[in-house]
Amino acid sequence: MINFDASQPPANILIVDDKPTNLRVLSTMLTKVGYKVRAVTTGRMALMAAKNQPPDLILLDVKMPDLDGYEVCQQLKNIPETAAIPIIFLSALQDVEDKIKAFEAGGVDYIIKPFQFQEVLARVSIHLTLQKARYQLQALNNQLEKQVEEQTADLAEIKQQLLHDALHDSLTKLPNRSLFLERVNSALKRVQEEDDYAFAVLVIDLDRFKMINDSGGHTVGDLLLIGVSRTLETLISLADTVARIGGDEFAILLDPIRDVNEALKVAEQVKQTLTTSFLIEEQEIFTSPSIGVTISMPSYNSAAEILRDANLAMGEAKDKGRARYELFNPQMHRQALKLITLERDLRYAIDKQEFDIYYQPIMDLNNIKLVGFEALIRWQHPHKGFISPGEFIPVAEETGLIISIGKMVLEKVCYQIETWKKKFPNGKLLKVAVNLSSQQLKEENLIEEIDNILKKTGLNPHNLKVEITETSLIENSIITSQLLRQLKERNLEISLDDFGTGYSSLSYLHRFPVDTLKIDRSFVNCIGKTEENLKIIQSIITLAHNLGMEVVAEGIETQEQLVYLQKSHCDFGQGYFFDRPLPSKEAEKLLEDN
Ligand code: C2E
Ligand code: MG
Ligand code: MG
Repeated sequence: MINFDASQPPANILIVDDKPTNLRVLSTMLTKVGYKVRAVTTGRMALMAAKNQPPDLILLDVKMPDLDGYEVCQQLKNIPETAAIPIIFLSALQDVEDKIKAFEAGGVDYIIKPFQFQEVLARVSIHLTLQKARYQLQALNNQLEKQVEEQTADLAEIKQQLLHDALHDSLTKLPNRSLFLERVNSALKRVQEEDDYAFAVLVIDLDRFKMINDSGGHTVGDLLLIGVSRTLETLISLADTVARIGGDEFAILLDPIRDVNEALKVAEQVKQTLTTSFLIEEQEIFTSPSIGVTISMPSYNSAAEILRDANLAMGEAKDKGRARYELFNPQMHRQALKLITLERDLRYAIDKQEFDIYYQPIMDLNNIKLVGFEALIRWQHPHKGFISPGEFIPVAEETGLIISIGKMVLEKVCYQIETWKKKFPNGKLLKVAVNLSSQQLKEENLIEEIDNILKKTGLNPHNLKVEITETSLIENSIITSQLLRQLKERNLEISLDDFGTGYSSLSYLHRFPVDTLKIDRSFVNCIGKTEENLKIIQSIITLAHNLGMEVVAEGIETQEQLVYLQKSHCDFGQGYFFDRPLPSKEAEKLLEDN
């Protein structure tokens, strides 16, 4: 058998001819070489046979009584099931026009009768092979198309996922900063196009998150962020957006709002709902939010500007004591600008060494004799004059500049004490207290720095005291307690500054190696005015003495205050009543007189 492999079923051929003799001859011949053959004698029967069971090839006579071959061919080409079947015309007509007509009707070949059997066989075989090749090509094409379709779908999915990832936070699954800005920008467009259209942006920062993260571990921090995200989602409507725009910073877009009160109501809800504890890994984690609110105005140019203002308002909420919300007002801009200028000037001041150290005498209250000084920094700004440490120290802390300033103060003070000791070799052992900021306590190499300075200046550590505030002790009690121990190992004394303002529990004081408590000025200020704080002064002094600590009262301004403190057995004191902080030359005079 020609051209067919044994694994394939034999090809199925339909022969159409109104002459039974022709049919018989062709049938016999084709059957003999292995084809399966069906034979019909009219055009109509041919259509029926082909439709019922489409053959692989048709041999079609042209001249037939009912429907001629062309007609049959055309009809078969119009039916989808039979359209692809190769049709070979068999005809005695020899004109070119007849042949053309046959090809136009859809035939693939034209054999002239009387035919040579070998020729018929060869042509049948070729067209079957061609047809098979066409089918294979088609199948291949289909497969390719399917693959392309599948890959396109995969690619679309990957693209979608990438797009989603680029716009969402992987931890909380919330929209991220980019997506949030995009949505605020669209909302802003509407505000600029439509009168009376308004939206609000809330920026929410978790108070003390860093502390939770540092002490509880990152898992706890992460779980808290997820918990907060889910809580925030319950507080807004579907059209609004909650996003995570930074480490512990979230933002809400309320779009649209009817009025300011609507935004403030949500802020209040956020405040109340998040001022709570979350149960995370069997620990109760307390948190609260500081929230800044801005309302859209057509004058805004970009989402970034809106976020900036909401952030300023949030900062204000933090400054005012956290766990609260603040609505942005333009005054905050001016304040922020002032801070930026101050920061710039501060950097310049470090370079140009515009700082000086003043020394405020500390007196023994029993005999009103000088026992030491507190070193206090002074900044003489070239244009703005004197700027108080109360104003620039917080900025220095926020910007990290306090580290180099603190180092400079420590070094200058150590050199100064050494100089005085050389000038007055027979003088009493004098102690100078230096303030350390909470930022400095967090510096990893603080101890190393202090060692270096002591070595460089050759100062006996007995002459040096460090003052840390009660608040910075509470803020990072674990680190601080280790650090204080290291300082004690170096024979440095430790004072707890501004005591009474940090709401620390008096009972845990004994855990820290503190030598001195400094009663905050605000308590001393009450002496002779209100009774309330007098009891506190008494208890601080008693407690300190019980714990083997000494007490210094800050801010003594009147005789009355002094007498009261003396009666209460306060050990030491400083204040304008004795002296203001003095330039080193004047402080030196006091030492001379002593
Ligand atoms: P502080 O350590 O509590 O210092 C005491 C402050 O009270 C000083 O203010 C001092 O001038 C002021 N003072 C002393 N006696 C009286 C008084 O009788 N009446 C009144 N009204 N005030 C009195 P100053 O120098 O403005 O410093 C303010 C704060 O800035 C300091 O509070 C301290 O926390 C910080 N500071 C000052 N110098 C430094 C420094 O070198 N490093 C660091 N980290 N902080 C410093
Ligand atoms: Mg102090
Ligand atoms: Mg103080």
